Amino acid sequence: MKDYHTHHPSPHGGYLCSVTRADWGNIVAAEGMTPCLGVHPWYAHEVDAAELAFDLDDWLTRYPQADVGESGLDASARHESTLEAQRMLLHIQLGAAFRHERMIHLHGVHAWAELLDILRQRARTRILPRVLLHAWNGSHELAREFLKLGAIFSVGLRELSHPKAYERYARIPADKLFPETDDHPEHWERTLALLTVHRMRF
Ligand SMILES: [Zn+2]
Repeated sequence: MKDYHTHHPSPHGGYLCSVTRADWGNIVAAEGMTPCLGVHPWYAHEVDAAELAFDLDDWLTRYPQADVGESGLDASARHESTLEAQRMLLHIQLGAAFRHERMIHLHGVHAWAELLDILRQRARTRILPRVLLHAWNGSHELAREFLKLGAIFSVGLRELSHPKAYERYARIPADKLFPETDDHPEHWERTLALLTVHRMRF
């Protein structure tokens, strides 16, 4: 099993996500990992959108093994003031992922419903890339809608330890729900153990 969302190179392999544009060089140089090139929603307002669009196209062309991310939306109190910039960068990254046929890795704090709307619109006009929703903590009803769009999910120790974890995750098919460590590589063993428990229940 590989790590489906991390910011640290892992001996288990997996998806190594950048956070800012400055990370990309290190991300593509990490061995044994799938590099994910993007800009995290927390930093979206610091970025020149046109420049990012150009750079992302260029890097995805040069690194055919790379995915896109970490992108997404964060509507928490701390970040909602930058939502306009976040949306602009999300659309740029979704567009690049679709054109280059890469998966996009999405963060969605307090924003799953809006992300679902955006992805549905893209599905309708047939410009939807493959999608991974990381740190997934939405309801099962929402998960079902994302599954119809072909999305997959990753969850870490925080999500799997939540009191609602069983109702959120037990009915997601095992081949659509994967482990992640995000910024906590030390959580790997416990994350796998908890995920196994959920899968047995499934
Ligand atoms: Zn992350």
